[in-house]
This record gives sequence, structure tokens and C-alpha cells, in this order.
Amino acid sequence: MMSNYGESHLEIEEANAISGLCGIDVTKKKKISLATLLTGLVSLSVALTLTILLLASYHSNKQSLFDTRFALNHSTAAKMSQSVDSLFKSMRAGLKYTGAYISVNHLSNEQELHKQLELLRLSGNFFNSIAVVDETGLVRSVAPSSVGTVGQHIATEATKEALASRKPYISKPYISATGRLIVFMSEPLYDKDGVYRGFIGGSLYLQENNILNMMFGKHNVDSDGSYFYVVSSNGHLLFHPDKSRIDADISTNPAVQKVLRGESGYDEVTNSQGITFLAGYSPVPENGWGVIVQSPISVVYAELDRYIRTILFYTLAPFVVLMITAIWLARRLASPFVSLANLAGKLGRGERIVLPDIKHHWNREADLLTQTITLALNDLQKQTDQLTQAAMTDSLTGLTNRRTFESIMTQWTEKQQPFALIMMDIDRFKSINDTYGHQAGDEVLKHLARILTSSVRSNDVCCRYGGEEFVVLLPYTSAPEALITAERVRTAFETRENPLGIPLTVSSGIAHYPSHAESAEMLFQRADHALYQAKEAGKNRTIVAD
Ligand code: GH3
Ligand code: MG
Ligand code: MG
Repeated sequence: MMSNYGESHLEIEEANAISGLCGIDVTKKKKISLATLLTGLVSLSVALTLTILLLASYHSNKQSLFDTRFALNHSTAAKMSQSVDSLFKSMRAGLKYTGAYISVNHLSNEQELHKQLELLRLSGNFFNSIAVVDETGLVRSVAPSSVGTVGQHIATEATKEALASRKPYISKPYISATGRLIVFMSEPLYDKDGVYRGFIGGSLYLQENNILNMMFGKHNVDSDGSYFYVVSSNGHLLFHPDKSRIDADISTNPAVQKVLRGESGYDEVTNSQGITFLAGYSPVPENGWGVIVQSPISVVYAELDRYIRTILFYTLAPFVVLMITAIWLARRLASPFVSLANLAGKLGRGERIVLPDIKHHWNREADLLTQTITLALNDLQKQTDQLTQAAMTDSLTGLTNRRTFESIMTQWTEKQQPFALIMMDIDRFKSINDTYGHQAGDEVLKHLARILTSSVRSNDVCCRYGGEEFVVLLPYTSAPEALITAERVRTAFETRENPLGIPLTVSSGIAHYPSHAESAEMLFQRADHALYQAKEAGKNRTIVAD
């Protein structure tokens, strides 16, 4: 796994290191790491998939819930309108047969007339009241007698219309002579000679217990808020769960308009309170009424909400597992690239890198890249090391070269770290060269280099300054201590067996920092001067700057 979150600082440095390497101008723009990129991509695609899934199921379910609700309400309305239709056919048949019976035999017999009306009222239980009215509008008989209109002339619009038409008749809702809101239906009466003798009429008391609420129940509102209502042919409410709304004119309602045109179907309607309903409607052919069954749209949305919650409940856990797995895989995939990039970045910044053991990766490309790049980096590092070594050392003797010596001395004087400097020069080297040849001279140089390295401490620095001149830097060493070292070298060079088998000697000058000089240049001059004095004094000796 990677740990490169919040490494923007590092990334900017990397960018600069690389731009420095390649000479390209990379603006200091924050870079996105591969792991973040992959994690982001995976999260985004999982989130998008889940959203699309939810949206798709939301829309398809919404449509099917709407369709189901419309179909249900429409079929309920159709069944109810059929029931009302049959009911009214029965009601009319009851009126018709009783009317036929009394008009032939009992029109003049008050008692028999009343008996027949009561019989009809109680047997069918269709009407709240039944009356026989003669052709002049005089009430001949009424059941129940408590209505108390016998002997009165009734001149409502409905009775006038019924009398005038002399045909089967059904009224719109109106206020009767007794002050009730009623719907009234009648059958004409003809005696045996075919003379018109008035009508037999039955009334429904819309605001009281009547056949409609016996049939449909008083509380016809479902637990989900669905309910139905019945409208008369002029768009007035005949039946509604809210009794106070009976007789209200709702003819502007689009579903009502359609059902009163005789259409059967369903529609989305908004009521006067701004609540939207899914309504199914069906007309009643017998009396021109309409039945409308409707459910608040919120019912469907609540169902949809439950459905989506269920989907979420069952899909969220697998999606989270999927996302975590995908992120884990993505990061595993990215990890070798991240490690390689970090390594390359370090190399770019000129840092020494420790090459990790080559790890095998299950991804072919990652595996190939890791192996190839690690090997390449290994080679590069070796070459760099070799070049660095070559740049720092003298090729003939293997000692530190002049450039490195100077930089070490500058570092130490900058840090004000005390040290001693020995300058050495082989005596009469020119004549050795001249006598034995350049090659032999080189052997003498290598010989002194070996003596030098074996005579000093491990933290002392031996350099070939140039030609047959050598310097030794001895950290935290006093001048007398340096003298001992220089003498040890001088004696060994003089006495030890050498490749040419001839007498060899060396002269040295010593100076100490900071007691002899406060700068590297001055110190060098002081040691050089001491060396000069040693040469002047007869060579093969060591002199410490005074
Ligand atoms: P002194 O005793 O005063 O030091 O005299 P010297 O002959 O040692 O000094 P001088 O400076 O006159 O001669 C140094 C010689 O070292 C001159 C040059 O040919 C020789 N030399 C310089 N570099 C090399 C090298 O790498 N190899 C060899 N073989 N000779 C070198
Ligand atoms: Mg010299
Ligand atoms: Mg010399």
C-alpha cells in the first residue's frame, strides 16, 4: 500500500527536480497522485452506477405504481357505477310496477294507495320517501306519513318538470318542500283508459341515511387516503365522505367533466385545495351520474419512497464492499508505479537511493516495469558512484585529488573545525624521472601513496596535490601530533624498501588551523612556506610553521 497522501510538497520538488534535469519549465502546479486518481475514478464510477440504478428503478417503478393505481381506481369506479346503475334500474322498476298496479286499481282508494307505497318503501329500502302526486300537483299519498305533505300542492321545479314531461324522470339535487336536499325520480301514472294521472315519485335524502351510504358505507375513506364520490348530471356532489360538501358544484373538475360526457377512464386531477389525485372515473348510464375514485398522489410517492429505501437497503452494502475492493485493487495496482516514481524522484533530486529488493507484482506491466526500472536504476547508481569516485580521486595513486582536498579544507575552515595540514614534496624527483624514466617515477609516487595511507588514521585525508606533491589533512590534530605523523612517513619513505632500490627522501611543511592561519589560503601558504624552509635546510626533513 502507498503512503503518499499529502505529499504535494514532495511532488512539487519532484517536478522541479525533473524540470531541472530536463531543462523544461514546469509550472508549480499541484499534481494528482496515481493512487488518488484511481481511487477517485473508482469511487466516481461506483457512485454513478448506484445513482443510475436508483434513478432507473425510481422512474420505472413510479410509472408502474401510477399505472397500477390508475387501473385500480378506474376498475373500482367502473364496478361502483355498474352497481349504481343496477340499483337505479331496480329503483325505477319498483316505481314502475307499483305505479302500474295502483294506477289501474287503486287510484281512488286512499288506504290501498298508502299501503302500496309503504310496501314499496319498506321492501326495497330504496327511497327515503315515496309519494303519489296527481296531474294537478296535489299530493295524494305519501310514505312514510310523517312527511306530512298529503293534500298539499307541490310546485317545485322538479315536480313541475315531472308533470310536464309525463315520462320517467330523474331530478337534479334540489331543496324539497320539506326543506331537505333531495334527488327525486318518478314514473308517470296512466289509468286503464290511458289518461295521464300524475306520477309516483321516490326521493333520496342526500344528507341523511339513504340507499347510497347503505351500499357504500358511511366512512368510505381508505387508510391511505383514497376515497370516492358521486356526482349528479349537473356536476353537483351527491355522495362524498365529507357530508358538508354534498350539493357542492364541482363541474369544473376535469375528471367530472369527462365522466359527465360519458367517458370512462383515469386522469391526474388537482382539487380546490391544491392536492393532486390519481382519479379513475366511470359514468352511470341509467341516471347520467358519475362515480370518481381517487387516491392522493402522495400515496404513490410514499410507496415509491419505501421501494427506493428497500433497494438502497439491499444494494448499499454490496456497493460499499465493491467500492472498497475496487479501491484496494486500484491502490495495489498503483503501488509499484508510486514506488518507482518516488525512487526516480529521489534520483532526480540527486539523492543517494537505496534500491529495494525486486518485488514481483501480479500485474504483468507493473512487474516488467518494476524489474526493468530497478535494474536500470541499479546500473545508473553504479555508474554514478563510479563517476563520482573518479571525479574525487587521483587515478595514479588512488588518493583524494586536489579538487576534493580543497573542498574538504574549505568545509572545515567554514565550520571552524581545527585540523593540521602536512605538505610533502619528494626530493629530487626530477632526477629520478630523468634517470629511470617516467614510468619509474610513477612507481615512486605510488610507493609514497601506500606509505601515506598506512601511516595515517582512518579519518585523516591523504591527497595527491599534483606532480610529486602530497598533502595530508588531519582533523582535530595539533601541529606537534602532525609532526609525529609526518616524521613517521618521512622515516618509512627513507628506510623502507622501494621499487627502484635507490635512496628516496621526502620533505614536509606543517601548519595548523586556526593557530597558524585563519583561512584556508593562508594556511596553505604557511605550510608551503614551511616546506620551502625544509628544502632550503637540506631536504629530508619536516618543519612546522612557526
Ligand atoms: P626538489 O628536490 O627541489 O623538490 O626538486 P625536484 O626535482 O623534485 O622538483 P621539480 O619541481 O623541479 O621537479 C618535479 C618533477 O616531477 C617535474 C616533473 O617532470 C615530474 N612530474 C610531475 N608529475 C609527474 C608524474 O605524474 N609522474 C612522473 N613520473 N613525474 C612527474
Ligand atoms: Mg615539487
Ligand atoms: Mg620535489
